[in-house]
Amino acid sequence: MGNPVDMPAPPADFPEAVASTLQQLNVHDLRETIIYAQELLQYRHVPADQIEPAPGEEIVEMTEHTGYTEVVKRQPCGEDCDDCPHGPYIYHVSREPLPNGQENLHWVLIGRKLSDDS
Ligand SMILES: [Zn+2]
Repeated sequence: MGNPVDMPAPPADFPEAVASTLQQLNVHDLRETIIYAQELLQYRHVPADQIEPAPGEEIVEMTEHTGYTEVVKRQPCGEDCDDCPHGPYIYHVSREPLPNGQENLHWVLIGRKLSDDS
């Protein structure tokens, strides 16, 4: 029963190869994919106590989320100006495997935090 439903479109920036693979999976494999993706997110997660400020930086706030930790920090511009350290800026930090088998902390700048006085 029920009306035929159009297949949902993948997110705009989603890799096409992944989307077409997922579209061909049966229900069992799709459910397993969700579980596996959650495990990968847990694996990419970096606990807050593994994140350290670089010299001159000042960590204001850290919040752990599934797959990443949000870090709010002030940072120097490198020129040691009167306003240093600048910010605060919001970053999302996750664990990123490197081709050589090692891993890196991957910092993604989200933007300046606007609510606080700087
Ligand atoms: Zn500065």
